Parts: sequence; structure tokens; C-alpha cells
Amino acid sequence: MSLKILDSFYEGKAKTLFHTSDPTLIVQYFKDDATAFNRQKFGQIVGKGVVNLAITKALYKLLESKGIPTHFVEALDERRMVSRKVEIVPLEVVVRNRVAGTFAKRYAVAEGTILPAPIVEFFLKKDELGDPLITAEAAIAIGLATPHETAELDRLARKVNEILKAFFLTVGVELIDFKLEFGKLPDGTLLLADEISPDCCRFWEVGTGKKLDKDRFRQDLGGIEDAYQDMLKRVTGG
Ligand code: UDP
Repeated sequence: MSLKILDSFYEGKAKTLFHTSDPTLIVQYFKDDATAFNRQKFGQIVGKGVVNLAITKALYKLLESKGIPTHFVEALDERRMVSRKVEIVPLEVVVRNRVAGTFAKRYAVAEGTILPAPIVEFFLKKDELGDPLITAEAAIAIGLATPHETAELDRLARKVNEILKAFFLTVGVELIDFKLEFGKLPDGTLLLADEISPDCCRFWEVGTGKKLDKDRFRQDLGGIEDAYQDMLKRVTGG
């Protein structure tokens, strides 16, 4: 594919996005920059961009093979991924299998408590408000999504959870929770977008409970680069 990379149009926390010579495609460059707590904490995790792209690619291929549509097209190199241009739905979709993070704080429930069934939550993507929790009903009422779309986000997120939970168990990792983002094609089709990586998932090693994700950065646990490399090896076998 002789795709030309043009100007950058969005500088995110972990990725920079570029227009390309094909108006239906964009290029995402995966950086090593890390932020937490709505950008109050920031730093670098050496090699993170490479790990996150490789894991995202492997997981998107798995999900596509199981019928989940994604925006992934191809990886150009170890930091640049071509994806379909979508309009991002302004809702973050979080799926939880065990209690952790903001859920533990919000309801004062011990981290690690197993939930009887997976929980899906929506958060409004708005940095200046600190990405608040939002109900599907409120999201529909303020015009962020249609009833059909919120139902689809919920259904797809649960399906992704079942596929990923089973996959991670085969590599000795428990999927505690994760955040997904979705995008819309001009015809309204919903696609899984953004990334799926240790930046946006909680991974605990089966047996030891060792954290193999961004919580090592958030909580200053040390060994963050090693944890990302460990996840890369487990997911890609490389
Ligand atoms: N998450 C994310 N981006 C966010 C908020 C959460 O990727 O802006 C992920 C986070 O890594 C975790 C899951 O979503 O795997 C649930 O996060 P939670 O709501 O507990 O918030 P956190 O403790 O990460 O602030």
C-alpha cells in the first residue's frame, strides 16, 4: 500500500494521529508517554509504544476472527498502525470482572472482590469534567448516542470480555477490567477503536496476583517496563 502520511491532527496522551493520502484511513503513532489521574501524573515507560501496538494488533486480529469489527487495518512498523478513520463515540466503555480502581473507591469495596457477573459502565469522555460515570439513559438524553448504539456498545463490550478473558487465561493472566472505545463509520457502523493494551486493562498474573499493567506506574510499584515486556511475550509469544 503506498499510503502517504500527512499532517498530525490529534496529539493524545499515548498516541499521535495523522491524516493520510487516503481520506478513509489514519495512522496512529504509539508513544512511550504515560499519564494517570487525568494527566496529574506523567512520565515515560520505555518501549511502551512498541508493546502496546504489538498487543493491540494481536488482540484485534483475535477479536476480528471471532466476529468483532475493529478499526485496525495494518501495522506499518513497530510504532505506526493504519486504522480506519472513524468518529469516536464520546463514551468510554469499561468492563469489570473483579473490583479495582475507581469502582473500589466509589463503593468502598475491597480491591480484588470477584463480581458475580461482568459489569459494563459508561464514562463520558470529557477531560475537563474528569470523565464522569454516565448512565445509558443520560447519554441518550443529551444526544451522545442512540438507544440502539448504547445497547450495541454494551453487547459488543461483553462479547469482547468473554473472548479476551478466555484468551488471557491461556497465557496465565486474569483480565480484571478494561476500557474500550468505539468509533462510527460514515454509514453509522460501530467499530472497536483506539487500543487494547496494559495501558487500558488490568492484568493480574494467575496464581501470584502480580500486576502486569499500568497500575505499576499509577501506584509506583516499580518494574513497569518488565511488566509490559512480560505481557508482550505472553500475548505474542515473542
Ligand atoms: N481506564 C482507561 N482510561 C481511563 C480510565 C480507565 O484506560 O481514562 C481503564 C483502566 O486501565 C482500567 C479500567 O479502565 O483497566 C477501569 O478503570 P477505573 O474506572 O477503575 O479507573 P482508574 O482506576 O484506571 O482511574
